Amino acid sequence: MEKKNIDWSALGFGYIQTDKRFVSNYKNGAWDEGVITDDATVVISECAGVLQYSQSCFEGLKAYTTKDGHIVCFRPDLNASRMKDSCERLEMPVFPEDRWVQAVVDVVKANAAYVPPYGSGATLYLRPYMFGSSPVIGVKPAEEYQFRIFATPVGPYFKGGAKPITIRVSDVDRAAPRGTGHIKAGLNYAMSLYNIVDAHNKGFDENMYLDPATRTKVEETGGANFLFVTKDGTVVTPKSSSILPSITRRSLLYVAKEYLGLKTEEREVYLDEVKDFAECGLCGTAAVISPVGKIVDHGKEICMPSGMEHMGPVTQKLYDTLTGIQMGSIEAPEGWIKVIE
Ligand SMILES: *Cc1c(COP(=O)(O)O)cnc(C)c1O
Repeated sequence: MEKKNIDWSALGFGYIQTDKRFVSNYKNGAWDEGVITDDATVVISECAGVLQYSQSCFEGLKAYTTKDGHIVCFRPDLNASRMKDSCERLEMPVFPEDRWVQAVVDVVKANAAYVPPYGSGATLYLRPYMFGSSPVIGVKPAEEYQFRIFATPVGPYFKGGAKPITIRVSDVDRAAPRGTGHIKAGLNYAMSLYNIVDAHNKGFDENMYLDPATRTKVEETGGANFLFVTKDGTVVTPKSSSILPSITRRSLLYVAKEYLGLKTEEREVYLDEVKDFAECGLCGTAAVISPVGKIVDHGKEICMPSGMEHMGPVTQKLYDTLTGIQMGSIEAPEGWIKVIE
């Protein structure tokens, strides 16, 4: 199969329309068979549930080429089950998990010419999403839904190596206790836009959100979970019912324990203790880990001992091991790599 003529290493993180996408419609209580289509547009009622009351959720995962030339995805079954959780919380119909993974495979196969080659650092980003498509004016769930998956090639997240970022402690909250912080709802992002634009305007790369009830505990950023390393090498991630369960974070904890022999803890992390950690990173599909060099709490700077030049040594090992597993140079745990072709 001939690849598209794209300068893979020059790609950014933006939308580029590809040839094929998957669409399935839910009507009269059932999902149809679904199709792979050329049509990149969505036509829905002006009164669609998603447009009026934001009834939508999404996922994000990548397909890429491994060292030995296979096209694969990383743990798509976990994305399928997380979307099931999102749908249940938003009163949306679940798209069956086995069909969900198969639709991902079909979209990747149909767009194989857009899967960047091994070594380019670029990947094919997949965006599964669902929304209420039928008219809703009284506040209630829509009766009809659309589930779609499109693909778009994206560049290496860090061009020229991962530089540590600076984040600020946010005054705005992300997710209420017992709210929707643990699901991937579009509305969680809509409400964070004001605060991320404000952070950027003030020279910060990201917001550190605290637990809204006490504002003493670290939750996550707008789109990535925290990972800390103690001075004696224990990997610590915040535990809270209102953070989004990152697949990258869960995978890194496994890698820390089972591949690197490190101690791991998933527990409440107080803002007060952040100054005592040796390393800090943000984990998510896009970057795997972004190192955090500095955390600013209302003028008070917490400078991580790992500094502003490089990832900390433990963070680097975690990053190298997980990306090695993903790219096929390190043997993966059973079931982590879904070979597509
Ligand atoms: C998607 C997302 C993450 C990262 O999850 P991954 O599965 O690792 O990509 C973290 N936080 C939020 C709020 C998210 O929406």
